[in-house]
Amino acid sequence: MIEKRDFYINGQWVAPSAANDFYVINPSTEEPCAVISLGGQAETDAAVAAAKAALPGWMATPVAERIALMEKLVEVYQTRSEDLAQAMSLEMGAPLDMSRSSQAGAGIYHLKNFIRAAKDFQFEHPLGDHAPNDRIIHEAVGVAALITPWNWPMNQITLKVGAAAIAGCTMVLKPSEQSPLNAMIFAEMMDAAGFPLGVFNLVNGDGVGVGSQLSAHPDVDMVSFTGSTRAGTAISKAAAETLKKVHLEMGGKGANVIFADADEKAVKRGVLHMMNNTGQSCNAPSRMLVQRPIYDQAVEIAAEVANKITVGPALEEGRHIGPVVNEVQWNKIQDMIQQGIDEGARLVAGGTGRPEGLNKGYYVRPTVFADANNQMTMAREEIFGPVLTMMPFDTEEEAIEIANDTPYGLTNYVQTQDGARANRMARVLRSGMVEMNGQSRSAGSPFGGMKQSGNGREGGVWGLEDFLEVKSIGGWAAE
Ligand code: NAD
Repeated sequence: MIEKRDFYINGQWVAPSAANDFYVINPSTEEPCAVISLGGQAETDAAVAAAKAALPGWMATPVAERIALMEKLVEVYQTRSEDLAQAMSLEMGAPLDMSRSSQAGAGIYHLKNFIRAAKDFQFEHPLGDHAPNDRIIHEAVGVAALITPWNWPMNQITLKVGAAAIAGCTMVLKPSEQSPLNAMIFAEMMDAAGFPLGVFNLVNGDGVGVGSQLSAHPDVDMVSFTGSTRAGTAISKAAAETLKKVHLEMGGKGANVIFADADEKAVKRGVLHMMNNTGQSCNAPSRMLVQRPIYDQAVEIAAEVANKITVGPALEEGRHIGPVVNEVQWNKIQDMIQQGIDEGARLVAGGTGRPEGLNKGYYVRPTVFADANNQMTMAREEIFGPVLTMMPFDTEEEAIEIANDTPYGLTNYVQTQDGARANRMARVLRSGMVEMNGQSRSAGSPFGGMKQSGNGREGGVWGLEDFLEVKSIGGWAAE
Protein backbone atom coordinates (compact mmCIF):
# COMPACT_ATOMS: atom_id res chain seq x y z
CA MET A 1 0.00 0.00 0.00
CA ILE A 2 1.17 3.50 -0.84
CA GLU A 3 1.88 5.60 2.26
CA LYS A 4 1.84 9.33 1.69
CA ARG A 5 0.97 11.01 4.94
CA ASP A 6 2.96 14.24 4.55
CA PHE A 7 1.86 17.66 3.36
CA TYR A 8 3.80 20.02 1.10
CA ILE A 9 4.24 23.28 2.99
CA ASN A 10 6.80 26.00 2.30
CA GLY A 11 8.78 23.79 -0.06
CA GLN A 12 9.07 20.87 2.39
CA TRP A 13 7.22 17.62 2.89
CA VAL A 14 6.08 17.84 6.51
CA ALA A 15 4.53 15.23 8.77
CA PRO A 16 1.03 15.85 10.16
CA SER A 17 0.88 17.52 13.57
CA ALA A 18 -1.64 14.89 14.68
CA ALA A 19 -2.25 11.45 13.19
CA ASN A 20 -5.44 11.33 11.14
CA ASP A 21 -5.14 8.52 8.61
CA PHE A 22 -7.46 8.34 5.64
CA TYR A 23 -7.55 5.32 3.34
CA VAL A 24 -7.89 5.90 -0.38
CA ILE A 25 -10.02 3.18 -1.94
CA ASN A 26 -9.35 1.71 -5.37
CA PRO A 27 -12.85 1.77 -6.92
CA SER A 28 -12.03 -1.09 -9.29
CA THR A 29 -11.44 -3.49 -6.37
CA GLU A 30 -13.03 -1.77 -3.34
CA GLU A 31 -9.68 -2.33 -1.55
CA PRO A 32 -7.58 0.43 0.06
CA CYS A 33 -4.69 1.40 -2.20
CA ALA A 34 -3.10 4.23 -0.23
CA VAL A 35 -3.09 5.96 3.11
CA ILE A 36 -2.85 9.74 3.47
CA SER A 37 -3.44 12.13 6.38
CA LEU A 38 -6.26 14.56 6.73
CA GLY A 39 -4.85 17.84 7.90
CA GLY A 40 -6.30 20.12 10.55
CA GLN A 41 -6.21 23.76 11.58
CA ALA A 42 -2.45 23.60 12.33
CA GLU A 43 -1.62 22.51 8.76
CA THR A 44 -4.10 24.95 7.23
CA ASP A 45 -2.56 27.80 9.22
CA ALA A 46 1.01 26.77 8.38
CA ALA A 47 0.27 26.52 4.65
CA VAL A 48 -1.60 29.84 4.56
CA ALA A 49 1.22 31.51 6.49
CA ALA A 50 3.78 30.16 4.00
CA ALA A 51 1.70 31.41 1.08
CA LYS A 52 1.24 34.80 2.72
CA ALA A 53 4.96 35.16 3.38
CA ALA A 54 5.80 34.22 -0.21
CA LEU A 55 3.27 36.61 -1.75
CA PRO A 56 5.23 39.90 -1.95
CA GLY A 57 8.25 38.21 -3.55
CA TRP A 58 6.17 36.26 -6.03
CA MET A 59 4.11 39.31 -7.02
CA ALA A 60 7.32 41.23 -7.58
CA THR A 61 8.76 38.47 -9.76
CA PRO A 62 8.57 39.61 -13.40
CA VAL A 63 5.81 37.90 -15.36
CA ALA A 64 8.38 36.56 -17.81
CA GLU A 65 10.04 34.65 -14.95
CA ARG A 66 6.76 33.29 -13.73
CA ILE A 67 6.03 32.11 -17.27
CA ALA A 68 9.50 30.55 -17.53
CA LEU A 69 8.81 28.51 -14.39
CA MET A 70 5.52 27.39 -15.89
CA GLU A 71 7.40 26.29 -19.01
CA LYS A 72 9.72 24.31 -16.77
CA LEU A 73 6.68 22.73 -15.14
CA VAL A 74 5.43 21.65 -18.58
CA GLU A 75 8.79 19.92 -19.17
CA VAL A 76 8.58 18.16 -15.81
CA TYR A 77 4.95 17.26 -16.52
CA GLN A 78 5.97 15.38 -19.63
CA THR A 79 8.29 13.18 -17.59
CA ARG A 80 5.62 12.45 -14.95
CA SER A 81 2.57 12.11 -17.17
CA GLU A 82 2.49 8.31 -16.93
CA ASP A 83 2.73 8.49 -13.12
CA LEU A 84 -0.22 10.87 -13.07
CA ALA A 85 -2.27 8.63 -15.35
CA GLN A 86 -1.54 5.53 -13.26
CA ALA A 87 -2.42 7.37 -10.05
CA MET A 88 -5.74 8.65 -11.38
CA SER A 89 -6.75 5.22 -12.70
CA LEU A 90 -5.91 3.70 -9.34
CA GLU A 91 -7.66 6.20 -7.11
CA MET A 92 -10.64 7.45 -9.11
CA GLY A 93 -11.19 4.73 -11.69
CA ALA A 94 -10.61 6.39 -15.06
CA PRO A 95 -9.63 3.65 -17.52
CA LEU A 96 -5.90 3.75 -18.20
CA ASP A 97 -5.94 4.73 -21.88
CA MET A 98 -8.39 7.53 -21.18
CA SER A 99 -6.44 8.50 -18.10
CA ARG A 100 -3.30 8.90 -20.21
CA SER A 101 -4.90 10.77 -23.09
CA SER A 102 -7.63 12.84 -21.42
CA GLN A 103 -7.07 12.97 -17.66
CA ALA A 104 -3.30 13.48 -17.71
CA GLY A 105 -3.44 15.10 -21.15
CA ALA A 106 -5.81 17.83 -19.96
CA GLY A 107 -3.27 19.17 -17.48
CA ILE A 108 -0.51 19.84 -19.95
CA TYR A 109 -3.04 21.30 -22.37
CA HIS A 110 -4.22 23.87 -19.82
CA LEU A 111 -0.73 24.82 -18.70
CA LYS A 112 0.33 25.45 -22.30
CA ASN A 113 -2.80 27.51 -22.93
CA PHE A 114 -2.04 29.67 -19.90
CA ILE A 115 1.50 30.24 -21.07
CA ARG A 116 0.25 31.34 -24.47
CA ALA A 117 -2.46 33.57 -22.96
CA ALA A 118 -0.02 35.18 -20.51
CA LYS A 119 2.51 35.99 -23.21
CA ASP A 120 -0.13 38.06 -25.02
CA PHE A 121 -1.72 39.50 -21.90
CA GLN A 122 -1.11 43.16 -21.03
CA PHE A 123 -0.59 43.10 -17.27
CA GLU A 124 -0.07 46.90 -17.39
CA HIS A 125 -1.48 49.34 -19.91
CA PRO A 126 -2.76 52.90 -20.26
CA LEU A 127 -6.49 53.46 -19.75
CA GLY A 128 -6.76 54.83 -23.29
CA ASP A 129 -5.60 57.59 -25.63
CA HIS A 130 -7.93 60.05 -23.93
CA ALA A 131 -6.23 59.55 -20.53
CA PRO A 132 -2.43 59.37 -20.90
CA ASN A 133 -1.89 59.70 -17.13
CA ASP A 134 -4.16 56.84 -16.19
CA ARG A 135 -2.69 53.41 -15.76
CA ILE A 136 -4.42 50.05 -15.42
CA ILE A 137 -2.48 47.32 -13.61
CA HIS A 138 -3.69 43.74 -13.39
CA GLU A 139 -2.17 42.35 -10.22
CA ALA A 140 -2.53 39.16 -8.22
CA VAL A 141 -5.58 38.76 -5.99
CA GLY A 142 -3.27 37.42 -3.26
CA VAL A 143 -3.31 34.14 -1.37
CA ALA A 144 -5.61 31.69 -3.14
CA ALA A 145 -7.17 28.54 -1.70
CA LEU A 146 -7.75 25.99 -4.44
CA ILE A 147 -10.30 23.28 -3.62
CA THR A 148 -10.67 20.58 -6.25
CA PRO A 149 -12.82 17.47 -6.93
CA TRP A 150 -11.93 13.89 -7.87
CA ASN A 151 -13.64 13.52 -11.24
CA TRP A 152 -11.17 15.36 -13.50
CA PRO A 153 -8.48 15.89 -10.89
CA MET A 154 -5.48 17.01 -12.93
CA ASN A 155 -7.68 19.05 -15.24
CA GLN A 156 -8.98 21.04 -12.26
CA ILE A 157 -5.66 21.36 -10.48
CA THR A 158 -3.84 22.74 -13.53
CA LEU A 159 -6.72 25.09 -14.39
CA LYS A 160 -6.33 26.64 -10.96
CA VAL A 161 -2.59 26.36 -10.22
CA GLY A 162 -1.53 27.35 -13.75
CA ALA A 163 -3.61 30.53 -13.74
CA ALA A 164 -2.91 31.46 -10.10
CA ALA A 165 0.86 31.05 -10.43
CA ILE A 166 1.19 33.08 -13.61
CA ALA A 167 -1.09 35.77 -12.18
CA GLY A 168 1.29 36.12 -9.21
CA CYS A 169 -0.91 34.53 -6.56
CA THR A 170 0.51 32.19 -3.96
CA MET A 171 -1.66 29.26 -3.05
CA VAL A 172 -2.78 26.37 -0.93
CA LEU A 173 -4.22 23.42 -2.83
CA LYS A 174 -6.66 21.11 -1.10
CA PRO A 175 -7.36 18.29 -3.53
CA SER A 176 -10.23 15.89 -3.07
CA GLU A 177 -9.46 13.38 -0.35
CA GLN A 178 -10.86 10.76 -2.74
CA SER A 179 -8.06 11.38 -5.26
CA PRO A 180 -5.04 12.84 -3.48
CA LEU A 181 -2.26 10.80 -5.13
CA ASN A 182 -2.17 12.64 -8.45
CA ALA A 183 -2.14 15.95 -6.57
CA MET A 184 0.84 14.87 -4.50
CA ILE A 185 2.71 13.91 -7.66
CA PHE A 186 1.83 17.35 -8.96
CA ALA A 187 3.34 18.90 -5.82
CA GLU A 188 6.55 16.96 -6.51
CA MET A 189 6.47 18.41 -10.02
CA MET A 190 6.07 21.98 -8.71
CA ASP A 191 9.04 21.31 -6.44
CA ALA A 192 11.13 19.91 -9.29
CA ALA A 193 10.24 22.87 -11.52
CA GLY A 194 11.75 25.15 -8.87
CA PHE A 195 8.88 27.39 -7.79
CA PRO A 196 10.04 29.53 -4.85
CA LEU A 197 9.27 28.29 -1.33
CA GLY A 198 5.72 28.95 -0.23
CA VAL A 199 4.30 29.83 -3.66
CA PHE A 200 2.57 26.46 -3.87
CA ASN A 201 1.45 24.44 -0.85
CA LEU A 202 -0.64 21.30 -0.60
CA VAL A 203 -2.67 20.21 2.39
CA ASN A 204 -4.78 17.08 2.19
CA GLY A 205 -8.01 17.14 4.09
CA ASP A 206 -11.74 16.82 3.90
CA GLY A 207 -14.38 19.43 3.24
CA VAL A 208 -15.50 20.02 6.81
CA GLY A 209 -11.87 20.24 7.97
CA VAL A 210 -9.26 21.87 5.74
CA GLY A 211 -11.88 22.87 3.14
CA SER A 212 -13.90 24.97 5.59
CA GLN A 213 -10.79 26.24 7.37
CA LEU A 214 -9.38 27.60 4.12
CA SER A 215 -12.74 29.11 3.11
CA ALA A 216 -13.02 30.99 6.40
CA HIS A 217 -9.33 31.88 6.82
CA PRO A 218 -8.73 35.63 7.25
CA ASP A 219 -5.42 35.45 5.35
CA VAL A 220 -6.90 33.77 2.29
CA ASP A 221 -7.94 36.38 -0.29
CA MET A 222 -9.72 34.10 -2.72
CA VAL A 223 -11.20 30.62 -2.93
CA SER A 224 -11.35 28.88 -6.27
CA PHE A 225 -13.56 25.84 -5.97
CA THR A 226 -14.73 23.07 -8.25
CA GLY A 227 -17.17 20.50 -7.00
CA SER A 228 -20.76 20.09 -5.95
CA THR A 229 -23.30 22.86 -5.57
CA ARG A 230 -23.73 21.77 -1.96
CA ALA A 231 -20.08 22.43 -1.14
CA GLY A 232 -20.07 25.61 -3.25
CA THR A 233 -22.87 26.99 -1.11
CA ALA A 234 -21.07 26.06 2.12
CA ILE A 235 -17.85 27.68 0.90
CA SER A 236 -19.66 30.86 -0.14
CA LYS A 237 -21.21 31.12 3.32
CA ALA A 238 -17.89 30.47 5.09
CA ALA A 239 -16.10 32.97 2.86
CA ALA A 240 -18.73 35.67 3.39
CA GLU A 241 -17.44 36.54 6.88
CA THR A 242 -14.16 37.78 5.44
CA LEU A 243 -15.70 38.87 2.11
CA LYS A 244 -13.14 37.02 0.08
CA LYS A 245 -13.46 36.52 -3.64
CA VAL A 246 -15.12 33.19 -4.43
CA HIS A 247 -14.86 31.46 -7.79
CA LEU A 248 -17.21 28.50 -8.24
CA GLU A 249 -17.33 25.74 -10.86
CA MET A 250 -20.10 23.33 -10.01
CA GLY A 251 -22.49 20.81 -11.46
CA GLY A 252 -24.51 20.71 -14.64
CA LYS A 253 -27.51 19.10 -16.28
CA GLY A 254 -26.67 19.76 -19.91
CA ALA A 255 -29.28 19.40 -22.63
CA ASN A 256 -28.27 17.84 -25.94
CA VAL A 257 -30.89 19.10 -28.40
CA ILE A 258 -31.03 16.82 -31.43
CA PHE A 259 -33.17 18.14 -34.30
CA ALA A 260 -34.61 15.87 -36.98
CA ASP A 261 -32.03 17.14 -39.49
CA ALA A 262 -29.04 16.28 -37.26
CA ASP A 263 -26.18 14.34 -38.78
CA GLU A 264 -26.54 10.57 -38.56
CA LYS A 265 -23.88 10.15 -35.85
CA ALA A 266 -25.44 12.68 -33.47
CA VAL A 267 -27.24 10.21 -31.20
CA LYS A 268 -24.32 7.80 -30.93
CA ARG A 269 -21.96 10.70 -30.25
CA GLY A 270 -24.27 12.01 -27.53
CA VAL A 271 -24.48 8.63 -25.76
CA LEU A 272 -20.72 8.09 -25.85
CA HIS A 273 -20.10 11.61 -24.59
CA MET A 274 -22.54 11.01 -21.71
CA MET A 275 -20.81 7.75 -20.74
CA ASN A 276 -17.26 9.12 -20.99
CA ASN A 277 -15.49 9.13 -17.59
CA THR A 278 -18.36 6.87 -16.45
CA GLY A 279 -20.73 9.82 -16.59
CA GLN A 280 -18.74 11.74 -13.98
CA SER A 281 -18.34 15.02 -15.82
CA CYS A 282 -20.04 18.24 -14.84
CA ASN A 283 -20.52 19.08 -18.54
CA ALA A 284 -22.01 15.69 -19.47
CA PRO A 285 -24.88 15.94 -21.98
CA SER A 286 -27.18 14.13 -19.56
CA ARG A 287 -30.57 15.18 -21.01
CA MET A 288 -30.98 14.12 -24.62
CA LEU A 289 -33.87 16.03 -26.23
CA VAL A 290 -34.84 14.51 -29.56
CA GLN A 291 -37.25 15.96 -32.12
CA ARG A 292 -40.32 13.76 -32.53
CA PRO A 293 -39.84 12.53 -36.15
CA ILE A 294 -36.56 10.78 -35.26
CA TYR A 295 -37.29 10.08 -31.60
CA ASP A 296 -38.13 6.34 -31.78
CA GLN A 297 -35.14 5.65 -33.96
CA ALA A 298 -32.91 7.68 -31.64
CA VAL A 299 -34.07 5.67 -28.61
CA GLU A 300 -33.21 2.44 -30.46
CA ILE A 301 -29.76 3.70 -31.40
CA ALA A 302 -29.07 5.00 -27.90
CA ALA A 303 -29.98 1.66 -26.33
CA GLU A 304 -27.84 -0.20 -28.83
CA VAL A 305 -24.83 2.06 -28.24
CA ALA A 306 -25.18 1.81 -24.44
CA ASN A 307 -25.49 -1.98 -24.59
CA LYS A 308 -22.24 -2.19 -26.52
CA ILE A 309 -20.22 -0.17 -24.00
CA THR A 310 -17.96 -2.44 -22.00
CA VAL A 311 -17.23 -1.84 -18.34
CA GLY A 312 -14.06 -3.01 -16.63
CA PRO A 313 -11.15 -2.36 -14.27
CA ALA A 314 -9.48 1.02 -14.62
CA LEU A 315 -5.93 -0.29 -14.75
CA GLU A 316 -6.70 -2.44 -17.82
CA GLU A 317 -5.83 -0.92 -21.17
CA GLY A 318 -8.45 -0.74 -23.90
CA ARG A 319 -11.71 1.01 -24.70
CA HIS A 320 -14.07 0.57 -21.81
CA ILE A 321 -15.49 2.64 -19.02
CA GLY A 322 -14.28 2.14 -15.46
CA PRO A 323 -16.09 2.04 -12.12
CA VAL A 324 -17.56 5.15 -10.48
CA VAL A 325 -15.40 6.70 -7.80
CA ASN A 326 -16.72 5.26 -4.55
CA GLU A 327 -19.45 3.47 -2.66
CA VAL A 328 -21.38 6.65 -1.86
CA GLN A 329 -21.61 7.55 -5.55
CA TRP A 330 -22.45 3.95 -6.50
CA ASN A 331 -25.33 3.86 -4.02
CA LYS A 332 -26.57 7.28 -5.10
CA ILE A 333 -26.61 6.23 -8.76
CA GLN A 334 -28.45 3.01 -7.94
CA ASP A 335 -31.08 5.04 -6.07
CA MET A 336 -31.43 7.45 -8.98
CA ILE A 337 -31.91 4.59 -11.46
CA GLN A 338 -34.55 3.01 -9.23
CA GLN A 339 -36.24 6.36 -8.81
CA GLY A 340 -36.32 6.79 -12.60
CA ILE A 341 -38.12 3.46 -12.91
CA ASP A 342 -40.51 4.37 -10.08
CA GLU A 343 -41.29 7.76 -11.61
CA GLY A 344 -42.34 6.06 -14.84
CA ALA A 345 -39.53 6.64 -17.33
CA ARG A 346 -38.94 3.74 -19.77
CA LEU A 347 -35.69 1.85 -19.11
CA VAL A 348 -34.24 0.85 -22.50
CA ALA A 349 -30.67 -0.11 -21.50
CA GLY A 350 -28.85 -1.00 -18.29
CA GLY A 351 -30.57 -0.70 -14.93
CA THR A 352 -29.70 -1.28 -11.31
CA GLY A 353 -26.96 -3.64 -10.11
CA ARG A 354 -23.50 -4.36 -11.47
CA PRO A 355 -22.80 -5.31 -15.10
CA GLU A 356 -22.69 -9.05 -15.71
CA GLY A 357 -19.50 -10.73 -14.54
CA LEU A 358 -18.42 -7.92 -12.22
CA ASN A 359 -19.19 -8.75 -8.61
CA LYS A 360 -16.78 -6.42 -6.87
CA GLY A 361 -15.88 -2.82 -7.67
CA TYR A 362 -18.11 0.21 -8.06
CA TYR A 363 -19.26 -0.68 -11.56
CA VAL A 364 -22.51 0.66 -12.98
CA ARG A 365 -24.44 -0.58 -16.01
CA PRO A 366 -24.53 2.00 -18.83
CA THR A 367 -28.16 3.03 -18.56
CA VAL A 368 -30.61 4.81 -20.86
CA PHE A 369 -34.08 6.04 -19.96
CA ALA A 370 -36.56 7.07 -22.65
CA ASP A 371 -39.90 8.91 -22.40
CA ALA A 372 -38.76 10.97 -19.42
CA ASN A 373 -40.07 14.43 -18.76
CA ASN A 374 -38.17 17.41 -17.47
CA GLN A 375 -39.83 17.36 -14.05
CA MET A 376 -38.57 13.87 -13.17
CA THR A 377 -35.78 13.70 -10.61
CA MET A 378 -33.38 12.23 -13.18
CA ALA A 379 -33.87 15.31 -15.38
CA ARG A 380 -33.43 17.79 -12.56
CA GLU A 381 -30.60 16.40 -10.46
CA GLU A 382 -27.08 15.58 -11.45
CA ILE A 383 -26.70 11.77 -11.37
CA PHE A 384 -22.93 11.75 -11.95
CA GLY A 385 -22.98 8.25 -13.39
CA PRO A 386 -23.44 6.58 -16.80
CA VAL A 387 -27.16 7.31 -17.02
CA LEU A 388 -28.76 9.09 -19.97
CA THR A 389 -32.24 10.64 -19.87
CA MET A 390 -34.09 10.93 -23.20
CA MET A 391 -37.22 12.94 -23.93
CA PRO A 392 -39.01 14.03 -27.11
CA PHE A 393 -39.84 17.56 -28.27
CA ASP A 394 -41.75 19.03 -31.20
CA THR A 395 -40.67 22.62 -31.84
CA GLU A 396 -37.53 24.69 -31.45
CA GLU A 397 -39.32 26.86 -28.86
CA GLU A 398 -40.24 23.81 -26.81
CA ALA A 399 -36.66 22.53 -26.94
CA ILE A 400 -35.36 25.88 -25.69
CA GLU A 401 -37.88 25.94 -22.88
CA ILE A 402 -36.97 22.42 -21.71
CA ALA A 403 -33.23 22.99 -22.07
CA ASN A 404 -33.34 26.19 -20.02
CA ASP A 405 -35.72 24.83 -17.39
CA THR A 406 -33.00 23.73 -14.97
CA PRO A 407 -31.22 25.30 -12.01
CA TYR A 408 -27.93 24.58 -13.80
CA GLY A 409 -26.31 26.34 -16.75
CA LEU A 410 -22.95 24.83 -17.62
CA THR A 411 -22.90 23.34 -21.13
CA ASN A 412 -25.66 22.71 -23.67
CA TYR A 413 -25.32 20.91 -26.97
CA VAL A 414 -27.11 21.39 -30.30
CA GLN A 415 -27.25 19.00 -33.25
CA THR A 416 -28.71 20.31 -36.53
CA GLN A 417 -27.44 20.84 -40.04
CA ASP A 418 -29.26 24.16 -40.22
CA GLY A 419 -26.51 26.64 -39.34
CA ALA A 420 -28.88 29.56 -38.75
CA ARG A 421 -30.92 27.51 -36.29
CA ALA A 422 -27.79 26.30 -34.51
CA ASN A 423 -26.61 29.87 -34.01
CA ARG A 424 -30.07 30.99 -32.85
CA MET A 425 -30.04 28.21 -30.27
CA ALA A 426 -26.53 29.12 -29.09
CA ARG A 427 -27.72 32.68 -28.42
CA VAL A 428 -30.70 31.75 -26.26
CA LEU A 429 -29.45 28.73 -24.30
CA ARG A 430 -28.70 29.87 -20.75
CA SER A 431 -25.34 28.22 -20.16
CA GLY A 432 -21.73 29.28 -19.99
CA MET A 433 -20.89 27.04 -22.93
CA VAL A 434 -22.65 25.66 -26.02
CA GLU A 435 -21.13 23.02 -28.27
CA MET A 436 -22.67 22.27 -31.63
CA ASN A 437 -22.53 19.30 -33.98
CA GLY A 438 -19.82 17.51 -32.05
CA GLN A 439 -17.43 20.43 -32.21
CA SER A 440 -15.79 21.02 -28.85
CA ARG A 441 -14.39 24.39 -27.89
CA SER A 442 -10.86 25.38 -28.87
CA ALA A 443 -7.67 25.81 -26.87
CA GLY A 444 -7.80 28.79 -24.53
CA SER A 445 -11.59 29.11 -24.57
CA PRO A 446 -13.29 29.94 -21.25
CA PHE A 447 -14.87 27.14 -19.19
CA GLY A 448 -17.58 27.93 -16.67
CA GLY A 449 -21.25 28.19 -15.94
CA MET A 450 -24.25 30.36 -15.25
CA LYS A 451 -26.94 30.01 -12.60
CA GLN A 452 -26.18 27.26 -10.04
CA SER A 453 -23.35 25.91 -12.19
CA GLY A 454 -21.15 28.69 -10.89
CA ASN A 455 -19.46 31.97 -11.65
CA GLY A 456 -16.16 33.01 -13.15
CA ARG A 457 -14.35 31.29 -15.98
CA GLU A 458 -11.37 28.98 -16.13
CA GLY A 459 -8.84 28.48 -18.91
CA GLY A 460 -6.88 30.84 -21.15
CA VAL A 461 -7.12 34.61 -20.67
CA TRP A 462 -10.36 34.41 -18.68
CA GLY A 463 -8.78 31.95 -16.28
CA LEU A 464 -5.88 34.33 -15.67
CA GLU A 465 -8.22 37.27 -15.15
CA ASP A 466 -10.04 35.40 -12.41
CA PHE A 467 -6.87 35.47 -10.30
CA LEU A 468 -6.19 39.15 -11.02
CA GLU A 469 -7.44 42.37 -9.47
CA VAL A 470 -7.77 45.45 -11.64
CA LYS A 471 -5.95 48.45 -10.19
CA SER A 472 -6.76 51.86 -11.62
CA ILE A 473 -4.16 54.61 -11.19
CA GLY A 474 -4.49 58.31 -11.90
CA GLY A 475 -1.46 60.62 -12.21
CA TRP A 476 0.85 58.00 -13.68
CA ALA A 477 4.18 59.65 -14.56
CA ALA A 478 5.75 59.16 -17.96
CA GLU A 479 8.55 56.57 -17.77
P1 NAD B 1 -17.58 17.86 -3.49
O1 NAD B 1 -18.22 19.17 -3.58
O2 NAD B 1 -18.05 16.91 -2.47
O3 NAD B 1 -16.02 17.99 -3.26
C1 NAD B 1 -15.22 18.85 -4.03
C2 NAD B 1 -14.11 19.39 -3.17
O4 NAD B 1 -14.69 20.25 -2.19
C3 NAD B 1 -13.34 18.32 -2.40
O5 NAD B 1 -12.00 18.72 -2.32
C4 NAD B 1 -14.00 18.35 -1.04
O6 NAD B 1 -13.19 17.90 0.00
C5 NAD B 1 -14.31 19.82 -0.89
N1 NAD B 1 -15.40 20.14 0.00
C6 NAD B 1 -16.52 19.41 0.25
N2 NAD B 1 -17.30 20.05 1.14
C7 NAD B 1 -16.67 21.23 1.46
C8 NAD B 1 -16.97 22.30 2.32
N3 NAD B 1 -18.08 22.34 3.05
N4 NAD B 1 -16.09 23.33 2.40
C9 NAD B 1 -14.96 23.34 1.66
N5 NAD B 1 -14.61 22.32 0.84
C10 NAD B 1 -15.46 21.27 0.72
O7 NAD B 1 -17.69 17.32 -4.96
P2 NAD B 1 -17.09 15.98 -5.53
O8 NAD B 1 -18.03 14.91 -5.13
O9 NAD B 1 -15.68 15.84 -5.14
O10 NAD B 1 -17.16 16.28 -7.11
C11 NAD B 1 -18.29 16.10 -7.87
C12 NAD B 1 -19.00 17.40 -8.14
O11 NAD B 1 -18.15 18.38 -8.73
C13 NAD B 1 -20.12 17.25 -9.12
O12 NAD B 1 -21.26 17.90 -8.67
C14 NAD B 1 -19.59 17.89 -10.40
O13 NAD B 1 -20.53 18.31 -11.30
C15 NAD B 1 -18.76 18.97 -9.87
N6 NAD B 1 -17.74 19.38 -10.85
C16 NAD B 1 -17.84 20.58 -11.50
C17 NAD B 1 -16.90 20.97 -12.43
C18 NAD B 1 -16.99 22.30 -13.14
O14 NAD B 1 -15.98 22.77 -13.63
N7 NAD B 1 -18.12 22.95 -13.22
C19 NAD B 1 -15.84 20.14 -12.71
C20 NAD B 1 -15.74 18.94 -12.03
C21 NAD B 1 -16.70 18.58 -11.09
